Amino acid sequence: MASPLRAAAFADDAAGRQDKLKNSDSASHSTAPADTFFLPGPVLLLGAPGVGKGTQAQLLVTRYGIPQISTGDLLRGNIARGTELGLKAKAIMSSGRLVDDGIVNQMVLHRLQENDTHRGYILDGYPRTLDQASFLDATLASLDLPPRLPVVAISIVVAYDQLLQRITGRRICPTCKSIYNIHFNPPQVEGVCDLDACALTQRADDTEPVFIERMRTFEEQTAPVIAHYRALGRFEEADGDQSVDAVNAAIQTALLLLRQQVPQAAGR
Ligand code: AMP
Repeated sequence: MASPLRAAAFADDAAGRQDKLKNSDSASHSTAPADTFFLPGPVLLLGAPGVGKGTQAQLLVTRYGIPQISTGDLLRGNIARGTELGLKAKAIMSSGRLVDDGIVNQMVLHRLQENDTHRGYILDGYPRTLDQASFLDATLASLDLPPRLPVVAISIVVAYDQLLQRITGRRICPTCKSIYNIHFNPPQVEGVCDLDACALTQRADDTEPVFIERMRTFEEQTAPVIAHYRALGRFEEADGDQSVDAVNAAIQTALLLLRQQVPQAAGR
């Protein structure tokens, strides 16, 4: 039977990931108590569309008991609620382009001030432009929010062809949020969820033309963000072309290393 958790390796859609992980048969993710001793601080998960940022962010949420802040999820939530912001974002998102920096920055600014961020948080899909990175750096410096640790960035790396298959093959159960991939991890019956027999859906931006546009946007606007954090020396790469658990182990090792290297409370 297809494992929804394994399927998550091929997805970057955070909606419902928590439920999916809870429903998973992989006890290593769902039963281990969160590590509340280690202080993760602000962590940026960077990488192209489909590298698995959302899946990995959810595992870090479980591991460290800190929130995931996904700008893609926040925007999709606005679309689902039919807010003014959602109406503005919808057409842009379905074309594969980026939503205005101003809109996304304000969303993140509000979210960072909620009271669950004091031990750290995982930013998933933000910053995606150099302007967003500057805004984040300036915001953290001026707000002086706990845990008062510098931002560290971890970039997940996966080859282009693999990403194309992950994205265009992704199918989601609208009810239980399980994620499949028609190439790597298909459901038992084509187009039908193994767990609740609902018809699987495809995200509007998971088509090949939109993927190509998203990759172009990534190369033009987000690759410089990765270069920015690499140059600051608060940066590690993780090979994303491995099992979900192996990628997660690599990310945790990178995070420990970065927190040992970066002087505490310095240079936000
Ligand atoms: P994601 O779920 O992270 O792949 O994001 C889906 C879409 O939401 C992207 O293709 C963008 O259109 C939009 N989006 C998400 N995060 C950002 C961001 N930080 N800046 C601008 N647009 C974003």
